Amino acid sequence: MSPYLMYSDGEGKIFEDTSLYSVGRSGWDAMPIPEEDWMELPEGGNLYELPGRRGIGLDVKTGEMRLCLKGWAVAAFIPPAHSGLYLAAFEALEDAPTLPLFCYVAAGWHNDKFYVPAIRIERDIRQEAKGYDDSKVQHGVEVLMKAYPHNRLVKHLAENCALTYDCPAAKNYFMGRWECPIPTSPACNANCMGCISFQPEEETIISPQDRLQFKPTAAEIVEFTVPHLETAPYPLVSFGQGCEGEPLLMWETIKESIIEIRKHTQKGSININTNGSKPAAVEQLMQAGLNSIRVSLNSAQEDIYTKYYRPNNYKFEDIVESLRVVRKHGGWASINYFVFPGMTDSVAEYEALRELIITTDLSMIQWRSFNIDPDWYLGNMGIGEIGDCLGVKQMMELIHEEFPNVKFGYFNPPIERMKNFETDFAH
Ligand code: SF4
Repeated sequence: MSPYLMYSDGEGKIFEDTSLYSVGRSGWDAMPIPEEDWMELPEGGNLYELPGRRGIGLDVKTGEMRLCLKGWAVAAFIPPAHSGLYLAAFEALEDAPTLPLFCYVAAGWHNDKFYVPAIRIERDIRQEAKGYDDSKVQHGVEVLMKAYPHNRLVKHLAENCALTYDCPAAKNYFMGRWECPIPTSPACNANCMGCISFQPEEETIISPQDRLQFKPTAAEIVEFTVPHLETAPYPLVSFGQGCEGEPLLMWETIKESIIEIRKHTQKGSININTNGSKPAAVEQLMQAGLNSIRVSLNSAQEDIYTKYYRPNNYKFEDIVESLRVVRKHGGWASINYFVFPGMTDSVAEYEALRELIITTDLSMIQWRSFNIDPDWYLGNMGIGEIGDCLGVKQMMELIHEEFPNVKFGYFNPPIERMKNFETDFAH
């Protein structure tokens, strides 16, 4: 089974080219995709036209790689809980615009269906497209805005996150279930190239979300999170969201909130999604009652990390130390690992990831497709030849074989799964 390449007519219509099989991309290289790596495009996935780019395919007769000149290249956005194994293969024209901050996975057409080289990495169904009911979200917004009329954070989560950005985490909060987001920080101490909450004026791409414009108080945080922890199934609350800067810059307010929350309820878990830049602050939060941390990184190699994050006043070893501190206190430590085929599965990256797991006693890897224009990323990082690569799936298998206790997934686990990861999760 080799799906055919797809192209767009530039007017939003997509066609298959039956003279070309679809291929994938790893780093700068186009390559055939093994049959077993294809899966049907999961519900909630999307197809994108890539303006100013010609798709690369495998000629069905000659077996030669060549461009499809019938239209623009097409890529897939795969939904949460899935990891992409190959990027879309294309050649960009001189004046091709930089692509927005989404993931661009290879895609193909076979037997009247869309296919992608990807795997389901997470059993949890918290962000399953079919699980959302906008009328329930709307009702939740009305009820909770009335319940907390002066709470700026509930207003932000309602008007911006749930109803404007269509944020799955915020919508789950207004549906009274699972993970509740708590953005807190208008500022950040990193300057990530692909920041989703702030892009410099001179950049041609825009950030999908605007950064929070105020500093919430501990009272505002506690007011809506305690009832959520008390009533939601598999409840957890998470500091550090896509619509803010770095939460550790607000650690004093977060510490105060955790202490106050735990005065009212012992239910559920309290998590922080962070760049991990302040291990001393993490120590304070663990002592206050934090349960888990998720540190985001594009690479476990210091130079590649530093080139992308462009940190202010912190170093790679600080993020390693933050993970270690959480494990030292018996907490759950995850990495939010941006998967970029050709970079993530390089031999050098594999060795660095092994080292990070050993050094930190890591609990979990959340394998998330990197939402970034591949050419823009590699170009800005000054990446030329990458050297040998293992293949993303093979790398996952090697890591799992050597570190069977390191869990794989996509979402921060609730306390029930931290205790027993195989817990039956039929919500
Ligand atoms: S750490 Fe987060 S908020 Fe800060 S620059 Fe990076 S992506 Fe943006």
